[in-house]
Amino acid sequence: MNRNMKKLSKKIVTRFAPSPTGYLHIGGVRTALYAWAYAKKNNGTFILRIEDTDKEREVEGSISHIIESLKWIGINWDEGPDIGGPNAPYKQSERLDSYKKYAQILIEKGLAYADPYTQEELESFRKKADEEKRPFLYRDHRPENPPVWDGSQPLRLKIVDIKQSEWFDEVRGKLTAGEEALDDFILIKSDGYPTYNFCHIVDDLEMSVTHIVRTDEFISSTPKFLALYDALGIERPYFVTLPPIMAPDGKKKLGKRDGAKDVLDYKKEGYLPSAMFNFLAYIGWSPEDNREIITPEEFIGIFDLARIHKSGGGFNIDKLDWINREHLKKLSYEEQEEYVFKYLPDSLKKLPTLTNSIIHSITPIVMERISKGEDIVKMAEDGELAYFFEKPIYDKESLFFKSSKISESDKYKTLSSYLEHAVFILTEIDERSFLKENIKEKLWSYAEEIGRGDILWPMRYALSGLDKSPDPFTLAEILGKSETISRLNTAIELLIK
Ligand code: GLU
Repeated sequence: MNRNMKKLSKKIVTRFAPSPTGYLHIGGVRTALYAWAYAKKNNGTFILRIEDTDKEREVEGSISHIIESLKWIGINWDEGPDIGGPNAPYKQSERLDSYKKYAQILIEKGLAYADPYTQEELESFRKKADEEKRPFLYRDHRPENPPVWDGSQPLRLKIVDIKQSEWFDEVRGKLTAGEEALDDFILIKSDGYPTYNFCHIVDDLEMSVTHIVRTDEFISSTPKFLALYDALGIERPYFVTLPPIMAPDGKKKLGKRDGAKDVLDYKKEGYLPSAMFNFLAYIGWSPEDNREIITPEEFIGIFDLARIHKSGGGFNIDKLDWINREHLKKLSYEEQEEYVFKYLPDSLKKLPTLTNSIIHSITPIVMERISKGEDIVKMAEDGELAYFFEKPIYDKESLFFKSSKISESDKYKTLSSYLEHAVFILTEIDERSFLKENIKEKLWSYAEEIGRGDILWPMRYALSGLDKSPDPFTLAEILGKSETISRLNTAIELLIK
């Protein structure tokens, strides 16, 4: 049977198998995403399995964190520790009996043996190999009469066929490794827990996993896995090796300092899960067409192992920001309003002037200026939002345009008369037509007459108290007729005081 026929006849089963050793970073989520999408695309099964046999490295709370992170991004599983399933349990620490069962099978076949050596003995073998300038290989010291395995000694695989390894990877094609990659490795440690090398293979077998989707750090151990598949007489699964996620400079693998942080930190910063999904999907894969914005459904529809890249894709936060902006644009107006409100600081939220209608009005202004929720927090911290809700406080000199044509001698009086005239024009506008285009139209000829900067700048300053803010027409519309006029009057009073 060729590979494709085999593929057609078997239900596709993939799994994500994280170790609960801390928070889930974006690399882990990307692995889960590809494994999940492949199963979904093929009406297969996606399993979440927790690989918790290294009790020393386990960090409390990691499992719920993993679950929360995957759910946030929209990945769901058909079987897993929280929902059970036909292959339960889904935590390796609860599957020790299975590993013992397969260990026993290997012992009976003469393919596994108890390791009788003490640490000191192993050390002396290692030292001797070093002195003789040859690699230390456990298989050079196989005991002639190993003791009966009682669980207190490590159990090792006896690799009888020491040969060059060759296998096929769905992404990288044919891979090979020399004999030196094979040595009698530990299956079960003296503490009773299996090694990753052993138990993931037993689990994949029992859970009928067809495709192993994981990153490239497991390539060097694959010859050992192959030896174990052979020893157990089981068919090899498909290997799908994802490229690593690289640091922004593209030269090294992404480390914690370059942004490989807790995926839920991105949630806190205001990235949308759909944007994070989109961003991760493209690190290491690209579609046939050149679209850059994609929904999870579209991704599932077009995801293909053949389009996974061989080499690592860089982590580019600017790209993530851009994608987030694109996804924010796709939200409904109401959702955008909720988003803006969510990131306003409590100090603003509790102001009586913070009304739904102001939030409604400032939403497009805020959305235009941000990439993510945290930018709204920053805008507020920089005072770029408070003036919508509170009268600004400023110094009267700031009301003068820097290239003002107003003569020094009577400048306060002149500017106040300009503003008074502006107030007069605005008063004439009906409240319902107090809209930026209309305000602009009504003020424009007067502004041209006296010099635009000499009225638009002071108006803007009177309304916002800031050098940089939206134009005065937009501000006036958002603040409404009476608040706009009241702020302009405050400026006039300040000038003639
Ligand atoms: N527990 C392994 C890890 O967290 C999983 C590797 C695999 O997918 O086989 O890296």
